[in-house]
Amino acid sequence: MRKRLLLVGGGHAHLFVLEALRLQRDVWRERLEVTLLSRDLMTPYSGMLPGLVAGHYRSSECHVDLRPLASSAGIDLVQASVERIDLQRNVAIAQGREWRFDLVSLDIGSTPPLALVPGAAEHALGIKPIDAFLQQWQALEQGSAALQRPIHMVVVGGGAGGVEIALAMAHRLRTRRALVKLSLVTRTALLPAYPRRAARLAAHHLEAAGVALLTGSAVRSVTAGQLHFENGSTASFDRLVWATGAAAQPWLAQAGVATIKGGFVQINQHLQSVSHPQLFAAGDIAGNPEQPRPKAGVFAVRQGPVLAQNLLRQALGDALIAYRPQRDYLSLLTTGAHHAIACWHGLVWQGDWVWRWKDRIDRRFMRRFALPLQPADPLPGPD
Ligand SMILES: Cc1cc2nc3c(=O)[nH]c(=O)nc-3n(C[C@H](O)[C@H](O)[C@H](O)COP(=O)(O)OP(=O)(O)OC[C@H]3O[C@@H](n4cnc5c(N)ncnc54)[C@H](O)[C@@H]3O)c2cc1C
Repeated sequence: MRKRLLLVGGGHAHLFVLEALRLQRDVWRERLEVTLLSRDLMTPYSGMLPGLVAGHYRSSECHVDLRPLASSAGIDLVQASVERIDLQRNVAIAQGREWRFDLVSLDIGSTPPLALVPGAAEHALGIKPIDAFLQQWQALEQGSAALQRPIHMVVVGGGAGGVEIALAMAHRLRTRRALVKLSLVTRTALLPAYPRRAARLAAHHLEAAGVALLTGSAVRSVTAGQLHFENGSTASFDRLVWATGAAAQPWLAQAGVATIKGGFVQINQHLQSVSHPQLFAAGDIAGNPEQPRPKAGVFAVRQGPVLAQNLLRQALGDALIAYRPQRDYLSLLTTGAHHAIACWHGLVWQGDWVWRWKDRIDRRFMRRFALPLQPADPLPGPD
């Protein structure tokens, strides 16, 4: 009987799994049955999200269509969001249906930890899930020209995501500065994980774009239209975007799987759960305390080929290979216009050429996974 491999989530690492399954179909098709459950069929590529918000890209340029990738790999694709996983019975539950597996792989990303700040979940828009954010952003951007009075938009989060998104919004709304005032609020200094020069450059770009910066301001709670800070002060807002840190989906901890701080699946060097060998995980949702790395798509991308090999090896009974993360990585931060800051091994550059460099890298990634949709591409819904 063929073993069942269940892929959950169409994140960066799973794109490489789909590619490997397509290229190695002869190796596995007699012995494996593979299904991909993904909340989104068009999976967003977050590296290009700030460019999409800024107006440099169309939506189709920043999304990978999972349908041709799945059909060319010969696997079933179902649009469904997993709500629970039972590792005693080896089933995932999505939309009221059970999906049995012998082996399961999670690449479901993360979301900002809105639950940590009272009121944030009710009053703020999380930067992820990306498509929910984009829908709201489009409505706001389109409605901004017809505003009756000026509004105040606040982005909470001074890491790379918050800075990039605030600058992208400011760029998109640059002709409507009188109508939309933008602020960036952060608990720490700006870009605390980056070289000081990068933070200074980012602060300069924020100022030039008219974005007010409030550092060292921890938000204690949020009420309607009001941010309440730890130091007792308040600030009002009309729209609030939450772009801090990362949290895991709560059903993972409930599954009894070993997790690390933040609720992420604790994996070993083989990208395998340390508590449940039938579970593999990669990308933001996974963490290895022996190899701590920031939550960045570049790591999910590097894990992808190793994950693909290990899923096949585990299913076919072969020895697993080790994932060795790089120590540092090239970080490219867009600054709104066709301009970006590059950080690598403590060195910092900026320029329009950095943006073009990033654009080439991003477009190459998207081309790699852009297969044409086939007329026969099925969309099996859960029955
Ligand atoms: C504004 C912004 C800009 C960024 N820019 C960069 C950058 O330039 N470089 C970089 O390295 N990192 C960047 N990041 C970080 C990057 O977004 C993440 O590290 C990366 O997306 C993680 O990839 P992943 O494969 O773990 O999951 P994701 O890319 O988030 O994919 C998760 C997938 O799982 C699916 N899914 C989610 N939940 C479920 C469920 N319950 N059931 C089924 N399917 C599910 C989703 O539909 C999606 O397809 C940025 C983040 C933000 C917010």
